[in-house]
Amino acid sequence: MLALLLTVMPLQADRFKDVQVQHTELAQDLYMLTGAGGNMATVIAGDKVLLVDSQYAELADKIKAKLSELGAKAGVTTLVNTHLHGDHVGGNSQLAGGVDIIAHHNVLSRLAQDSKFPRNGLPNITFKQQLKFTLGGQTIRLDYLPPSHTDGDIVVWFEQANVVHFGDLLFEGRFPFIDTNNGGSVKGYIDNTQTLLGMLNEQTKVIPGHGQLTDKAGVQRSLDMMQATLAIVQGYKAAGLTEQQAIEKGLGPQWQSWHWNFITEQRWIKTLYHADVN
Ligand SMILES: [Zn+2]
Repeated sequence: MLALLLTVMPLQADRFKDVQVQHTELAQDLYMLTGAGGNMATVIAGDKVLLVDSQYAELADKIKAKLSELGAKAGVTTLVNTHLHGDHVGGNSQLAGGVDIIAHHNVLSRLAQDSKFPRNGLPNITFKQQLKFTLGGQTIRLDYLPPSHTDGDIVVWFEQANVVHFGDLLFEGRFPFIDTNNGGSVKGYIDNTQTLLGMLNEQTKVIPGHGQLTDKAGVQRSLDMMQATLAIVQGYKAAGLTEQQAIEKGLGPQWQSWHWNFITEQRWIKTLYHADVN
């Protein structure tokens, strides 16, 4: 057991060694940040710093260094979590322990049940439908959407800048993860994508939870992919194919580029095969 730990631990420590935290300026004082895990956003306004999501604890120092480089006078003053997954909340304690951490009420309920999650990284401000505040001249609106990726997802609007952080309600150019163990729903995910699409205009900048910065057309592509692949798999079910037979038939060449290491084509077909749609 000890030998196993000794060989495994250095590999885990190395996992983040070469990760660089990088920024893209989206408006004055507003940036998208990437590293490893879920994309982040930040508003830096003098001594006020808002951060949306916190990636992993191991990256906290690199994230802090990036915030300083962008002009942050001190640490994060407000952290928002889009949902509960570890690649979005892992750095909560290191980056925002002791300051305001805002999330949907279900995020707190679920994280609080995880005894390993640092207590000072738990959200201390929760809400159920909508929460709005201003920071550095930006109006920031947090909107809850019905269960889809999980049952605690919010999107974060930067109203004046016409920028929105979708959290994991968008996996740009990739099959999405529907976490049914945490209240997720395929139907909810498709419905929410449709709802959000109607709230965007041609100029809106959309930060996905994973993947490249995108726009209304990118959200539309994702919706088209989900509707088309769901129709394919529903067709297989209607024809009496088992899950394994559906996987063997596959989705065809058109959707190959959406396959990635976490949500493979096979896993996406399984998700669709068991989807909670009529
Ligand atoms: Zn997630």
